[in-house]
Amino acid sequence: MRVLIVEDDPSLAAGQRRALQLEGFAVDVVPRGEAAIQCTEGERFDIVILDIGLPGIDGFEVIKRLRRGRHEMPILVVTARDSVGDRVRGLDLGADDYLVKPFANPELVARVRALVRRSQARTGPKIVHGPLIMDTVARRCFLNGQPLELAAREWAVLEVLLARVEKIVSKDTIIQAVTGWVEDISPNAIEVYISRLRAKLEPAGISIRTVRGFGYLLVDYPENAPAVAG
Ligand code: CA
Repeated sequence: MRVLIVEDDPSLAAGQRRALQLEGFAVDVVPRGEAAIQCTEGERFDIVILDIGLPGIDGFEVIKRLRRGRHEMPILVVTARDSVGDRVRGLDLGADDYLVKPFANPELVARVRALVRRSQARTGPKIVHGPLIMDTVARRCFLNGQPLELAAREWAVLEVLLARVEKIVSKDTIIQAVTGWVEDISPNAIEVYISRLRAKLEPAGISIRTVRGFGYLLVDYPENAPAVAG
């Protein structure tokens, strides 16, 4: 799950980022509205947390432009202005929910979860790949009907591969999906997550192929099944 935080106060942004990362979200932070518009052009986010009072274009303008650009991810507005007019304006422009500063980070996390859950309910929350079922709403995974334990980052890596079965996924793409681009993680760390996933999935006939010098590929299960049987 990728979150974009648009917040010009560095310490607020850092607190929100930490709280969400602890829950397994991959978080990116930008301090300005223009930057927010720019990164949603090239990247897919599951939710945007948007401060209204920003330098340059304000949060209201960001909502307008995101919705005009047909971006349908949930937008959670964060505002210091506790006026009914502002709240109504944000919601009218296409925001999905709002929080008034100051708020506790657990409340932020709860709202984010609820909004993502709601938006996923519209798009189908379960990913099925042979004997593997990933319930992205309940955040539970099952293999051959048994619960499968996955660490937050193993989950994120698997989710990216499952979204592109039989397609080569570059290490950079995986790194981005797992961490957001501002954080530093080495390609070696990705290898570790991949090898842990293999250990868990290969006994069930699910295989992740290494594409040397580039990345990884999750092999389509139906093609894989006969080899397991025979
Ligand atoms: Ca602000």
